[in-house]
Amino acid sequence: MKTLRPSPISSTVDFDKDGVQHGFLRLPYSRDDSAWGSVMIPVCVVRNGTGPTALLTGGNHGDEYEGPIALYDLARSLDAKNVSGTVIIVPAMNYPAFRAGTRTSPIDKGNMNRSFPGRPDGTVTEKIADYFQRELLPRADIVLDFHSGGRTLDFVPFCAAHVLPDKQQEKKAFDAVEAFAAPYSVQMLEIDTVGMYDTAAEEMGKVFVTTELGGGGTSRAETVRIAKRGVLNVLRHSGIVAGAVEKQPTRWLDMPSGDCFCFAEDEGMIEPLVDLGEPMKEGQVVARIYPVGRTGAAPAEIATKMSGILAARHFPGLVKAGDCVSVTAVVVD
Ligand SMILES: [Zn+2]
Repeated sequence: MKTLRPSPISSTVDFDKDGVQHGFLRLPYSRDDSAWGSVMIPVCVVRNGTGPTALLTGGNHGDEYEGPIALYDLARSLDAKNVSGTVIIVPAMNYPAFRAGTRTSPIDKGNMNRSFPGRPDGTVTEKIADYFQRELLPRADIVLDFHSGGRTLDFVPFCAAHVLPDKQQEKKAFDAVEAFAAPYSVQMLEIDTVGMYDTAAEEMGKVFVTTELGGGGTSRAETVRIAKRGVLNVLRHSGIVAGAVEKQPTRWLDMPSGDCFCFAEDEGMIEPLVDLGEPMKEGQVVARIYPVGRTGAAPAEIATKMSGILAARHFPGLVKAGDCVSVTAVVVD
């Protein structure tokens, strides 16, 4: 097997040094407005002696805000003397996308969460993925990657982990989900796991937890509070920050199969008939799609294929064929 060249990214912080450091992951990026320029991805490391390492990320997609808000806040407030071990914070993982306020990178259209394991000689997005794959993930014991729905989806606020072949690893992940204490906790099914950061971390044997905390390309006071409490809870649960987990009631949800997802087959204007968190019965119409080119035409109906609650929905008022319209999750008692 050919050995990969070293990552072109250099870090201005030393991950093995005690104390609080704020710096950058500097990725050379030559372009019209900066011949020898770089992408400067903010990073913070807080270390106090030996102990477990938590890797905390937001902005994997650039239009999701609860994670970055909680992590910029944590980076400026976490005191090394309250830490046992290491906390690595990258609040805006796909920094070019985050700066543009878009899901994918404006440089190469790269979707960070479809770019793993990345390439040291690939696109900007692939180079960032490769740095996480080979430099940061191997250091981590627990990985928390924040997501929300972005501009096109909206979610009930939840923390989630995946069903895994290694049941010990799976249990540790669900214990961390429980500690996060979002209003909902989910056994999450992915539409397509290829290239995901989640999969990269899990295949390395890491305890990996993720979130979906809202959406619509913005944040809300409630979902930001959930994110801030959740990240501290995960650090307390891991023994990295002292103190008891701040418990909150959570409802467990399951996504048992691909029947959770409903996709539009028509374009038009969406009429929601169910709001997030509301219960639904199998076969119930959750949304209508109106053709807008003429009056008098009947709308297409989107019906849920299983009973449960509405866990996510298409956010913009207009929809295209192929868009994910709704996600049903089953309440686990
Ligand atoms: Zn996302």
